[in-house]
Amino acid sequence: MESSIIYVLSVSGQPLMPTKRHNKVWYWLRRGLAKVVRQEPFTIQLCFETSTYTQPVIVGVDTGSKTVGVAATTNGEVVYQAEVYLRTDISANMTQRRMYRRHRRARKTRYRAARFANRRRQVEWLPPSLRSKAEATVKAVRLIASLLPVGKVNVEVGNFDTQRMQHPQISGLDYQQGTLQGYLVREYVLEKWKRTCAYCQARGVPLELEHIVPRSRGGGSRESNLTLACYPCNERKGQQTAAEFGYPKIQAQACVPLKDAAHVSVIKTSVLQQLRSLFGDAHLSVTYGYETKYKRIQMLGLPKSHTNDAVAIACEMGERVKPREEVYQIRCLPRGQYQRFNGRHSEHKCWAPRKVRGYKLYEVVKAKGVVGYIGGRREKGSFIIKELSSGKKLIEVAPSKLERVARPTQGWMITRKPILENLRKEGGASSPS
Ligand SMILES: [Zn+2]
Repeated sequence: MESSIIYVLSVSGQPLMPTKRHNKVWYWLRRGLAKVVRQEPFTIQLCFETSTYTQPVIVGVDTGSKTVGVAATTNGEVVYQAEVYLRTDISANMTQRRMYRRHRRARKTRYRAARFANRRRQVEWLPPSLRSKAEATVKAVRLIASLLPVGKVNVEVGNFDTQRMQHPQISGLDYQQGTLQGYLVREYVLEKWKRTCAYCQARGVPLELEHIVPRSRGGGSRESNLTLACYPCNERKGQQTAAEFGYPKIQAQACVPLKDAAHVSVIKTSVLQQLRSLFGDAHLSVTYGYETKYKRIQMLGLPKSHTNDAVAIACEMGERVKPREEVYQIRCLPRGQYQRFNGRHSEHKCWAPRKVRGYKLYEVVKAKGVVGYIGGRREKGSFIIKELSSGKKLIEVAPSKLERVARPTQGWMITRKPILENLRKEGGASSPS
């Protein structure tokens, strides 16, 4: 087990380079030369002046609609890796709130002015579910910037770069000869033909790049001559062109380029905009999925995961780094600051108190060899424990059997991955992976 990284802040709170020298850190803490400012990720602040020399840290962000991967590298070493689980309950919660309000208005309650017509949307308005996702992604990067001296942020926006498809001469050697060109073309053709065999419409089977006019008959390897075929179709077609094979339309279809391949989603646009205003245009760069895939598989030899993708995004071309064994798991939570908790007027206090049997919602607990968070509490009866990554219900257990692992902070539940896996093994309730 590698030793974990401790993040260090200067007297004024500026992030310095992180350290692995645990003995030194404990010495400082014992002598009162430093203080703990954050438990998870473990961060200390020095109480004495030091040189504030730092080397820039590069952050990689793998955006997603449910899980976001973030990683930070410096000097060929990964110094931070985290998986962020975004909230997916917002639209359901808002539907419920709307329903409650509708019912409440029908009851005999105090007068509430009609307010549906005096609301105006801001220019950059996003639906609440998407806004929460964009903000949580930016917040995850802001957390890194509060721990480490961030010099550059790389964000993956789309699968491939259409600019480079059209003008291959503008880019470097990798694109013109072999390797990366192959990745770019493959991803492009997969997207263009919607991952379907062009001849029998088969999906979910291994697909091959297929030359519409075969290479033996003078067909080139440009994307306008390529389509997708499953192995049986490719074999049957053999040395024929698509027209001879009985599919004259495919040739015409192949000549039409994909419109805007790097379709950047609403979330990504918002994330880029916010990161740009935080770090500045010069410190933000945009990468593409095919580059990530190439770097992850060919350069780093890593399996697919959100954090491994983030490491690949943070890496420079040709850089070799090893991912950390320790990955932070961050789950975004509702803060729970609602009118219903204040109850100023006739709103009844008909909800559970902040603590039930000494526990708050979303505390990470261990019980019956299982680690999860408290997803439901009862004044009399068992608590519901849910899984950290998926939010699925694991067990129901009496509160007296619970053992506290961590408390949520600042709208987040932060835990470390290998520790939880070790804990899970004790109970024998492990799942095959
Ligand atoms: Zn086929």
